[in-house]
Amino acid sequence: MIDTDAPVLVVGAGPTGAVLALELARHGVPSLVVERSSRPPRHSGPDLIGGTAAGILERLGVAGRVLAGGVDAGARGRVEWSRAVGGPPVVTMPSPLAGQVTGIGLVTRLRAVLRDHPLIDLREGWTFTGSRHTGGRTVATVLNSATGTRHDLPVGHLAGCDGARSTVRRCLGVPLEDTITTGQYCSVDFRSDALDRRFPRSSMIMADGISLVRCTGPGMWTGHLLLDRDSSEEADPAGVLHSRLPAALAASQVLGVVQWHDPLGVARVYGRGTTYLAGQSAHPLHPPSALVDTCLADAADLGGRLAAAVNGGPGPLDGYQRDRRPHAVRDRERLSRALDRHHRFAALAATGASPEQLAGVLRDRPQDHVNT
Ligand SMILES: Cc1cc2nc3c(=O)[nH]c(=O)nc-3n(C[C@H](O)[C@H](O)[C@H](O)COP(=O)(O)OP(=O)(O)OC[C@H]3O[C@@H](n4cnc5c(N)ncnc54)[C@H](O)[C@@H]3O)c2cc1C
Repeated sequence: MIDTDAPVLVVGAGPTGAVLALELARHGVPSLVVERSSRPPRHSGPDLIGGTAAGILERLGVAGRVLAGGVDAGARGRVEWSRAVGGPPVVTMPSPLAGQVTGIGLVTRLRAVLRDHPLIDLREGWTFTGSRHTGGRTVATVLNSATGTRHDLPVGHLAGCDGARSTVRRCLGVPLEDTITTGQYCSVDFRSDALDRRFPRSSMIMADGISLVRCTGPGMWTGHLLLDRDSSEEADPAGVLHSRLPAALAASQVLGVVQWHDPLGVARVYGRGTTYLAGQSAHPLHPPSALVDTCLADAADLGGRLAAAVNGGPGPLDGYQRDRRPHAVRDRERLSRALDRHHRFAALAATGASPEQLAGVLRDRPQDHVNT
């Protein structure tokens, strides 16, 4: 048995779970946070963050510590569309995102804040494996990977912040709605000083079959690639990156690859009983339309409502779902339109269309662009 009387179990210490625990603590409510990994995430995660996320971290009083080193909160880089990376731009527009921070840095520093907080009990290397409802209570099972021991834990409220492949969502049996079939994507983190030199003021470069996002740190980029399902591209994403960048701008080092196989969509309901979903577990979407902004806003909203419930107020679920789910549905629509636009742009570019014709594809809703 774990020695805790925290009324809330938070599953996952990614950006959503960390902010949820901090929001609860801001209201004086202790929480137990279990995080499967004992190391920082292997992929870069959010690099460009919006004003909502920055504002939430500010309100929690952790912006200075969490966004330190690498934030360029006032910067608004450019998004450049061209037929091919390095070619003349067809359209250039301002980025809608507010600032930049390394994704790994964001999670690492948030976890450091959790470790230091007297109201938050962060257990790293602990995995939530399931839950059952018994005697009017939810009992969660968590596994301590260091000792191999399982613990049954009666919990008042359980918040699933465990990402796109959420075990909590699976345990609740909640399906995704409005799923999107995006094709096969992958994201490659890499280093190219030549890209930095060629695009000193651009935060995103969109071209046929590839989009590039500038990351924090000299020469650091992430490439989001649409793979050809019928070829062997899936087996060698680094090779695909290589083939889609001109030699003069090539990656000098590939740092990591994330493949996207899972269905994307929005959970039909945001919880059941006293178990809730927040962040990517409630709306797994492809980056960066899966903006960390929506995830952190879920966490802040749920945290405030959960604190009220713990202190004797009404259960949070109805109001939480009513207020937050529409945001994810709108993100999902933006992603769908952006994918469509990128595909139309690529198809038209392949026909040799003029820059004016290509710009026409982007003109209808330019703010919806996304690096797909
Ligand atoms: C390559 C990439 C690039 C991105 N770029 C951007 C960007 O530029 N801008 C932006 O805003 N967003 C971006 N995103 C999206 C952003 O990373 C997500 O919105 C954000 O990480 C979601 O946070 P989350 O906490 O909901 O989920 P996650 O970050 O997935 O965190 C879930 C956490 O739960 C833990 N966990 C999972 N299962 C269990 C379990 N059973 N028990 C215990 N713990 C568990 C995981 O280890 C993880 O730490 C990007 C994502 C990726 C992958």
